[in-house]
Amino acid sequence: MRENNKHSVAVIGGGVAGMSAACALAEAGFSVQLIERRGYLGGRASSYLHPGVNEVIDNCQHVLFGCCTNLIGFYRRIGVAEKIHWTSDMSMIEPGGRRSRLGPFKVGPMRLPAPLHGAPSLLHAKAFSLADKVAVGRAFGAMMRIGSLDYSTESLGDWLRRHKQTPGAMSRFWRLVIASALNADIERIAVHYAAKVIRELFLNSAQAGAMGMSIVPLSELYAGVEKFLTQRGSSIHYNTNVESLDWDEEVMQWSVATRAGVLTSSYVVLALPFEAMGRLIPNLPPADGAATLAKQIAQHQHWPICSVHLWFDREITDLYHALLLDRDIHWLYNKGKLHPWRRLNGSYLELVVSASYDFAALTREQAIEHSVRELAEFFPEVKTAKLEKSVLIKEVRATFGVPPGIDAARPSEIATWPNMFLAGDWIDTGWPSTMESAARSGHLAAEALGLEADLPLLCLESDLKPKGFMRLVPDPNPWY
Ligand SMILES: Cc1cc2nc3c(=O)[nH]c(=O)nc-3n(C[C@H](O)[C@H](O)[C@H](O)COP(=O)(O)OP(=O)(O)OC[C@H]3O[C@@H](n4cnc5c(N)ncnc54)[C@H](O)[C@@H]3O)c2cc1C
Repeated sequence: MRENNKHSVAVIGGGVAGMSAACALAEAGFSVQLIERRGYLGGRASSYLHPGVNEVIDNCQHVLFGCCTNLIGFYRRIGVAEKIHWTSDMSMIEPGGRRSRLGPFKVGPMRLPAPLHGAPSLLHAKAFSLADKVAVGRAFGAMMRIGSLDYSTESLGDWLRRHKQTPGAMSRFWRLVIASALNADIERIAVHYAAKVIRELFLNSAQAGAMGMSIVPLSELYAGVEKFLTQRGSSIHYNTNVESLDWDEEVMQWSVATRAGVLTSSYVVLALPFEAMGRLIPNLPPADGAATLAKQIAQHQHWPICSVHLWFDREITDLYHALLLDRDIHWLYNKGKLHPWRRLNGSYLELVVSASYDFAALTREQAIEHSVRELAEFFPEVKTAKLEKSVLIKEVRATFGVPPGIDAARPSEIATWPNMFLAGDWIDTGWPSTMESAARSGHLAAEALGLEADLPLLCLESDLKPKGFMRLVPDPNPWY
């Protein structure tokens, strides 16, 4: 164990970014105090006991992919990597119930080499016409050439029109699969973020595109964080809102003021969402660069995600999850199947609606009635099933948008104040607003802090290497 008092760190914010930074730093021997405003960890990716239905629910289903190497590394560090259910199949269902499957094509253990591994299922997908498939295939080819650092000012919508995408490809693939993954309207997405999603989820390898879902409520995933930290001489302060910070140049120390008192530390990692960071800037010591950071933050915009949780008295579908086409609800997750420990007599489904301000404006009754009506178009069993209970969760500030030009508004992990580092999904990770971006930002901040403290540590996980023919396609952005 390294000397603690000299290397104490206050990590502010107990979301995925703060937890990843705190655990990596504690493992490297720093004495960490993780400070969280709420009474539990997880931030925007958490679960809680909903008093209305007496069930533990996630604030929304969170999915990850094989390419999320830092998030998986964080799960491994805290010993919960086994609690992720992985699947390579993505079912698309049309109103009326016709199903198509996207995902890697296998003959026994054999797969076609990347990027062709997903081509047979796309070609067989009944949800797309031949013209749609040709259009999507052409766009994939063009997107392979777009690097993550190609800061084009063109929106995804304009790019797709320029690449002559058919109405079917636009509505069933680009609007649903890609815009919902980036949680924004296609007119408000920078092309290189869409290209990154396409490359990672559909082209680089089957492993990169495999989808993971937790088999326990999200907050249970983080139950190991407290033990991990305390075993390494670190601690968590719950229900502790940080109000201001002061730097003492003489003793090279931060004072972190909370309602419960003042904590001190040599280093600080601010792992906050962009609005909370913006609110804190006036309560930090004056510094060059503070105004620039405030201006960057002002350019960010949040997008909503709504989830509708439904408990029926019987099984509605055998699928674990599905994409629902042509309606307002986008994703279905069969939580009863994902969480067999719930021992339900019927079923528990979660429906997710991405990036819709219209849906977010509905009342609870309207949203549930509308969702059940739409669900019945895909699964006739819904018409005869009894809806036993339901919950609507509106997360108005779910994710930040990635419009053209946003990269200039994503600061690096090194803050303008001394011995201070930034984390959070919105900082410059090259990733959209995801748990992977948050975990990556935490690891970037931990590494930068280690360098500053003269105790270098390596916790940033390598990206998955492209497989098959994709090894021959130059990586447009090798350092991320
Ligand atoms: C509905 C919804 C669905 C999503 N779906 C997915 C998905 O499927 N896959 C995916 O990868 N991502 C998804 N995301 C995005 C993902 O949840 C976020 O990108 C990620 O959790 C952000 O983590 P973070 O640590 O950067 O920020 P946060 O989770 O916001 O954590 C910040 C923490 O700081 C705390 N805090 C704030 N102010 C203070 C203060 N002054 N003092 C102390 N503590 C403070 C907050 O309470 C919070 O716990 C979804 C998000 C939402 C809301």
